[in-house]
Amino acid sequence: MVMRLDKLREGKAKILYATDDPQLLIQYFKDDATAFNAQKRGTILNKGVINNHISTILFQFLTREGIPNHFVDRLSDREMLVKRCDIIPLEVVQRNLLAGSLAKRMGREEGAVLPFPVLEYYYKNDALGDPMINADHAVAFGLASREDLTAIETITRRVNDFLRAYFDQMGICLVDFKLEFGWHKGSGGPTLLLADEITPDGCRLWDKSTREKLDKDRFRRDLGRVEEAYQRVYRLVCASVS
Ligand code: UDP
Repeated sequence: MVMRLDKLREGKAKILYATDDPQLLIQYFKDDATAFNAQKRGTILNKGVINNHISTILFQFLTREGIPNHFVDRLSDREMLVKRCDIIPLEVVQRNLLAGSLAKRMGREEGAVLPFPVLEYYYKNDALGDPMINADHAVAFGLASREDLTAIETITRRVNDFLRAYFDQMGICLVDFKLEFGWHKGSGGPTLLLADEITPDGCRLWDKSTREKLDKDRFRRDLGRVEEAYQRVYRLVCASVS
């Protein structure tokens, strides 16, 4: 059993703690929700518990698919044990349907199926409001090498292939999602791992038949029944392993 030690960082939705094993950290999932670069703040009741459980199940599936990720164990309702990673300051967004900032940028209605999954990079920097960048920018500014980006794109595509089919069979459309990656410095040298979380905070999930939004857009856009949407995704994801 690992011991939780000092708080290392507190983010918008999670707190990161050191443990007595230098290779391992604890992610603590909070109920806090933010949007629009933290200009909008609130809480979603039990979101931390729900997101920890959803993320656990999805990381376990991805591990079985051979997708390298930081998940080690779920320690409690709100705590996840993960491999320590130096997070690459990139938000990797993969889109299957047109929605959110891309719909806005292109001046189109949300909902069209994109002809192929579209990948975007954002520079993870709160002070700058996470601006969108391209692969050249990421390389030119030393965020990642060309080879790293190739690996990131391959993993992202595999995550999309898996999650899209997974959610589809439970009647949910995976519209888009955001991933983060990090370098884990293990004994055998650094390895690139999928990190952070995979939850309705960072994915757009629409009911396939009604197109109802089942994700953080309910909070961002004040659509109401936020908790209900998270609970529904939670129940479906839990049912997929029972
Ligand atoms: N996303 C995220 N964190 C961010 C920005 C986006 O998790 O800081 C997720 C978001 O939930 C959606 C996808 O990335 O699933 C694409 O988001 P988009 O660029 O459309 O931005 P938004 O409309 O959320 O501002």
